[in-house]
Amino acid sequence: SGDGSKEKEKTLAIIKPDGLAGNHTNKIKEIILDSGFSISREMIVQLDEDSVKRFYVEHSSKSFFPSLLKYMASGPVLIMVLEKESAVADWRAMIGPTDARKAKITHPYSIRAMCGLDLQQNCVHGSDSPDSAARETSFFFKESSSVHYCNYSQVHLS
Ligand code: ADP
Ligand code: MG
Repeated sequence: SGDGSKEKEKTLAIIKPDGLAGNHTNKIKEIILDSGFSISREMIVQLDEDSVKRFYVEHSSKSFFPSLLKYMASGPVLIMVLEKESAVADWRAMIGPTDARKAKITHPYSIRAMCGLDLQQNCVHGSDSPDSAARETSFFFKESSSVHYCNYSQVHLS
């Protein structure tokens, strides 16, 4: 349409270490594609704690921050840029509430309910606003070429 309201939006999704280790990746990607998203960029990386610190800087004063750093650096993660109309809000709705234990009760068909374990190990990340999506997408993907693969490696994102 001519007013731009149906233009694609980008959001950043991450399958966190527990999600990759628990073999949830194929199922989650199937749900993503069946829901009308395209995956325009993706890479698997092993983050170091310093990179996680900068990614989650908004949480740096929280009591759970040291534990969050260890968790996110505990194994490889799959980082994806998802695109479709209303991608940010729709992906947030699909992943469900932060606490996977509560999600199993209140949002049983959400991704965190199906694949997550608890308040910390909740399997997936989703940007919480279009501004966050822009920041987070450029945090991981510097240029805007096509699909981009990376081998597992200790990555320091400067
Ligand atoms: P969301 O990922 O739903 O946007 P937050 O931005 O509040 O949630 O928190 C970022 C991540 O930090 C969460 O996904 C979860 O892994 C972890 N986390 C959040 N709150 C807690 C907590 N109280 N205790 C332990 N880990 C937490
Ligand atoms: Mg958040």
